[in-house]
Amino acid sequence: MTRPFWKTKTLRQMSAAEWESLCDGCGRCCLVKLEDEDTGEILTTSVICALYDTERGGCQHYGQRFEHMPDCIGLTPDNIATIPWLPATCAYRLLHEGKDLPPWHPLRSGDARTVAEAGIAVLDEVISEAAVNLDDLPAYIRQWPHMGPRQKPAKEKKEKKPKK
Ligand code: SF4
Repeated sequence: MTRPFWKTKTLRQMSAAEWESLCDGCGRCCLVKLEDEDTGEILTTSVICALYDTERGGCQHYGQRFEHMPDCIGLTPDNIATIPWLPATCAYRLLHEGKDLPPWHPLRSGDARTVAEAGIAVLDEVISEAAVNLDDLPAYIRQWPHMGPRQKPAKEKKEKKPKK
């Protein structure tokens, strides 16, 4: 029986197509974050990048996202460990940490809908940053499930741009 590529290859060894297929499309990395200026603590909101399609999910300009959103961060094998807000459910983080993909991941389930069924996709619970006054961002702070240990209360916040 052939072992799947994510178990036999390192992140660096994967082809571009394999690398892209790791993204489950949850949208969690596209959520707007707030960072405590004093402590560096990061809080996640229910506001999502203006490029995110809030009706169908996914980036509306994925191929040109860096041109449309210069502060969008592209994941690479080199920077995964340096991005503190990458959710604990993200395949890139999981594999980087030596873990397996969860059963609901499309590469295991064979069905992209299992991401939403597992409560990981944010599509139905977000609002576009294009529809929000950025001064109101603290009102949208939210504790999303399975985001990892980095979400903690903070006293003062500043906007931290998100994205994949
Ligand atoms: S958090 Fe990870 S799996 Fe989810 S959309 Fe972002 S890159 Fe893809």
